[in-house]
Amino acid sequence: MNREEALNLVEPHLKKTRFEHTKRVTDTAVDLAKLYNEDVGKVELAAVFHDYAKYRDLEEMRRWIISESLPKDLLTFHHELWHGPVGAILVKKEIGINDQMILNAIKYHTTGKKDMTKLEKIVYLADYIEPGRDFPGVDKVREQAEVDLDMGCFMATKNTIQFLLSKNQPIYPDTFHAYNDLLMTIK
Ligand code: GDP
Ligand code: FE
Ligand code: FE
Ligand code: FE
Repeated sequence: MNREEALNLVEPHLKKTRFEHTKRVTDTAVDLAKLYNEDVGKVELAAVFHDYAKYRDLEEMRRWIISESLPKDLLTFHHELWHGPVGAILVKKEIGINDQMILNAIKYHTTGKKDMTKLEKIVYLADYIEPGRDFPGVDKVREQAEVDLDMGCFMATKNTIQFLLSKNQPIYPDTFHAYNDLLMTIK
Protein backbone atom coordinates (compact mmCIF):
# COMPACT_ATOMS: atom_id res chain seq x y z
CA MET A 1 0.00 0.00 0.00
CA ASN A 2 1.45 3.35 -0.96
CA ARG A 3 0.96 6.63 0.84
CA GLU A 4 -1.89 7.84 -1.39
CA GLU A 5 -3.83 4.59 -1.00
CA ALA A 6 -3.32 4.71 2.75
CA LEU A 7 -4.45 8.34 2.98
CA ASN A 8 -7.58 7.52 0.97
CA LEU A 9 -8.40 4.74 3.45
CA VAL A 10 -7.94 6.90 6.53
CA GLU A 11 -9.64 10.07 5.29
CA PRO A 12 -13.29 8.94 5.80
CA HIS A 13 -12.49 8.19 9.46
CA LEU A 14 -11.17 11.64 10.30
CA LYS A 15 -12.38 15.21 10.48
CA LYS A 16 -10.81 17.60 7.98
CA THR A 17 -8.42 19.19 10.51
CA ARG A 18 -7.36 15.77 11.83
CA PHE A 19 -6.68 14.58 8.28
CA GLU A 20 -4.48 17.63 7.69
CA HIS A 21 -2.67 16.85 10.98
CA THR A 22 -2.20 13.26 9.79
CA LYS A 23 -0.55 14.40 6.54
CA ARG A 24 1.79 16.72 8.46
CA VAL A 25 2.68 13.93 10.90
CA THR A 26 3.42 11.67 7.92
CA ASP A 27 5.71 14.23 6.27
CA THR A 28 7.50 14.87 9.57
CA ALA A 29 7.84 11.15 10.32
CA VAL A 30 9.26 10.42 6.86
CA ASP A 31 11.85 13.18 7.35
CA LEU A 32 12.85 11.60 10.68
CA ALA A 33 12.94 8.14 9.09
CA LYS A 34 15.43 9.35 6.48
CA LEU A 35 17.50 11.16 9.10
CA TYR A 36 17.67 8.14 11.42
CA ASN A 37 17.73 5.36 8.79
CA GLU A 38 14.37 3.81 9.50
CA ASP A 39 12.20 2.02 6.92
CA VAL A 40 10.31 4.85 5.18
CA GLY A 41 7.43 2.61 4.03
CA LYS A 42 6.72 1.37 7.56
CA VAL A 43 7.02 4.82 9.09
CA GLU A 44 4.68 6.20 6.45
CA LEU A 45 1.96 3.60 7.14
CA ALA A 46 2.24 3.95 10.91
CA ALA A 47 1.99 7.74 10.65
CA VAL A 48 -0.95 7.74 8.22
CA PHE A 49 -2.97 5.43 10.49
CA HIS A 50 -1.79 6.69 13.91
CA ASP A 51 -5.07 8.53 14.68
CA TYR A 52 -7.33 6.08 12.81
CA ALA A 53 -9.57 5.47 15.86
CA LYS A 54 -9.60 9.09 17.10
CA TYR A 55 -13.33 9.56 16.44
CA ARG A 56 -14.64 6.10 17.28
CA ASP A 57 -17.61 5.91 19.56
CA LEU A 58 -16.47 5.69 23.18
CA GLU A 59 -18.67 2.72 23.96
CA GLU A 60 -17.28 0.85 20.97
CA MET A 61 -13.72 1.60 22.12
CA ARG A 62 -14.60 0.47 25.64
CA ARG A 63 -15.84 -2.84 24.21
CA TRP A 64 -12.66 -3.35 22.14
CA ILE A 65 -10.50 -2.73 25.22
CA ILE A 66 -12.38 -5.47 27.06
CA SER A 67 -12.80 -7.99 24.22
CA GLU A 68 -9.21 -7.66 22.96
CA SER A 69 -7.80 -7.87 26.49
CA LEU A 70 -6.06 -4.49 26.28
CA PRO A 71 -4.82 -3.24 29.67
CA LYS A 72 -7.96 -2.75 31.81
CA ASP A 73 -6.45 0.24 33.58
CA LEU A 74 -6.95 2.23 30.35
CA LEU A 75 -10.64 2.39 31.23
CA THR A 76 -9.90 4.24 34.47
CA PHE A 77 -7.82 6.86 32.59
CA HIS A 78 -8.99 9.52 30.15
CA HIS A 79 -10.58 8.19 26.95
CA GLU A 80 -8.08 10.27 24.93
CA LEU A 81 -5.66 7.43 25.72
CA TRP A 82 -7.83 4.80 24.06
CA HIS A 83 -7.49 5.70 20.37
CA GLY A 84 -3.89 4.45 20.11
CA PRO A 85 -4.36 0.90 21.43
CA VAL A 86 -7.83 0.57 19.88
CA GLY A 87 -6.51 2.06 16.63
CA ALA A 88 -3.86 -0.67 16.42
CA ILE A 89 -6.60 -3.33 16.75
CA LEU A 90 -8.84 -1.71 14.12
CA VAL A 91 -6.07 -0.99 11.62
CA LYS A 92 -5.26 -4.69 11.72
CA LYS A 93 -8.89 -5.84 11.44
CA GLU A 94 -10.26 -3.22 9.04
CA ILE A 95 -7.25 -2.17 6.97
CA GLY A 96 -5.44 -5.51 7.07
CA ILE A 97 -2.07 -4.26 8.26
CA ASN A 98 -0.45 -7.17 10.11
CA ASP A 99 3.06 -5.80 10.67
CA GLN A 100 3.36 -5.74 14.48
CA MET A 101 6.09 -3.06 14.36
CA ILE A 102 3.68 -0.72 12.57
CA LEU A 103 0.76 -1.67 14.83
CA ASN A 104 2.84 -1.00 17.95
CA ALA A 105 3.85 2.44 16.70
CA ILE A 106 0.12 3.22 16.40
CA LYS A 107 -0.64 1.60 19.75
CA TYR A 108 1.87 3.61 21.77
CA HIS A 109 1.85 6.93 19.92
CA THR A 110 0.05 8.84 22.70
CA THR A 111 1.80 7.64 25.85
CA GLY A 112 5.07 6.19 24.65
CA LYS A 113 6.44 3.29 26.71
CA LYS A 114 9.65 1.76 28.05
CA ASP A 115 12.05 0.43 25.37
CA MET A 116 10.44 2.08 22.37
CA THR A 117 11.69 0.96 18.98
CA LYS A 118 13.05 3.52 16.52
CA LEU A 119 9.79 3.29 14.56
CA GLU A 120 7.73 3.94 17.70
CA LYS A 121 9.92 6.88 18.67
CA ILE A 122 9.64 8.44 15.21
CA VAL A 123 5.83 8.33 15.16
CA TYR A 124 5.60 9.52 18.78
CA LEU A 125 7.91 12.46 18.13
CA ALA A 126 6.46 13.38 14.71
CA ASP A 127 2.99 13.56 16.30
CA TYR A 128 4.38 16.01 18.86
CA ILE A 129 6.44 18.26 16.58
CA GLU A 130 4.46 18.34 13.30
CA PRO A 131 4.42 21.95 12.01
CA GLY A 132 0.79 22.54 13.06
CA ARG A 133 1.58 22.01 16.76
CA ASP A 134 1.91 25.00 19.04
CA PHE A 135 2.78 23.49 22.43
CA PRO A 136 4.94 25.62 24.77
CA GLY A 137 8.56 24.68 24.07
CA VAL A 138 7.82 22.76 20.88
CA ASP A 139 10.42 24.71 18.85
CA LYS A 140 13.22 23.48 21.13
CA VAL A 141 11.96 19.93 20.68
CA ARG A 142 11.89 20.41 16.88
CA GLU A 143 15.54 21.52 17.01
CA GLN A 144 16.58 18.53 19.11
CA ALA A 145 14.60 16.13 16.92
CA GLU A 146 17.08 16.83 14.14
CA VAL A 147 20.06 16.18 16.41
CA ASP A 148 19.11 13.28 18.69
CA LEU A 149 15.97 11.15 18.41
CA ASP A 150 16.07 10.04 22.07
CA MET A 151 16.59 13.57 23.36
CA GLY A 152 13.70 14.79 21.19
CA CYS A 153 11.42 12.08 22.57
CA PHE A 154 12.58 12.79 26.11
CA MET A 155 11.76 16.49 25.77
CA ALA A 156 8.34 15.72 24.27
CA THR A 157 7.56 13.32 27.14
CA LYS A 158 8.79 15.77 29.76
CA ASN A 159 6.70 18.60 28.29
CA THR A 160 3.62 16.37 28.14
CA ILE A 161 4.03 15.31 31.77
CA GLN A 162 4.58 18.93 32.85
CA PHE A 163 1.47 19.98 30.95
CA LEU A 164 -0.62 17.21 32.53
CA LEU A 165 0.71 18.04 36.01
CA SER A 166 -0.17 21.71 35.55
CA LYS A 167 -3.75 20.68 34.75
CA ASN A 168 -3.97 18.18 37.65
CA GLN A 169 -4.51 15.42 35.07
CA PRO A 170 -3.74 11.77 35.78
CA ILE A 171 -0.62 10.45 34.07
CA TYR A 172 -0.75 6.98 32.58
CA PRO A 173 2.04 4.63 33.82
CA ASP A 174 3.45 4.10 30.30
CA THR A 175 4.03 7.85 30.06
CA PHE A 176 6.20 7.72 33.20
CA HIS A 177 7.90 4.57 31.91
CA ALA A 178 8.77 6.39 28.70
CA TYR A 179 10.16 9.33 30.67
CA ASN A 180 12.30 7.20 33.00
CA ASP A 181 13.61 5.02 30.20
CA LEU A 182 14.49 7.93 27.90
CA LEU A 183 16.17 9.73 30.80
CA MET A 184 18.51 6.76 31.25
CA THR A 185 19.16 6.59 27.50
CA ILE A 186 20.16 10.22 27.05
CA LYS A 187 22.61 10.20 29.97
P1 GDP B 1 -3.39 13.64 18.98
O1 GDP B 1 -4.21 12.37 18.95
O2 GDP B 1 -2.70 13.91 17.68
O3 GDP B 1 -4.19 14.82 19.45
O4 GDP B 1 -2.22 13.47 20.06
P2 GDP B 1 -1.89 12.31 21.10
O5 GDP B 1 -2.51 11.02 20.68
O6 GDP B 1 -0.42 12.31 21.29
O7 GDP B 1 -2.48 12.82 22.47
C1 GDP B 1 -3.84 12.89 22.80
C2 GDP B 1 -4.00 13.53 24.17
O8 GDP B 1 -3.56 12.64 25.19
C3 GDP B 1 -3.21 14.82 24.37
O9 GDP B 1 -4.09 15.80 24.88
C4 GDP B 1 -2.16 14.46 25.41
O10 GDP B 1 -1.81 15.54 26.24
C5 GDP B 1 -2.87 13.39 26.19
N1 GDP B 1 -1.98 12.51 26.94
C6 GDP B 1 -0.77 12.02 26.60
N2 GDP B 1 -0.25 11.26 27.58
C7 GDP B 1 -1.17 11.25 28.59
C8 GDP B 1 -1.22 10.66 29.91
O11 GDP B 1 -0.32 9.96 30.35
N3 GDP B 1 -2.35 10.90 30.64
C9 GDP B 1 -3.38 11.66 30.18
N4 GDP B 1 -4.42 11.86 30.97
N5 GDP B 1 -3.36 12.24 28.96
C10 GDP B 1 -2.28 12.04 28.18
FE1 FE C 1 -3.32 10.52 18.69
FE1 FE D 1 1.51 12.38 20.76
FE1 FE E 1 -1.95 12.63 16.15
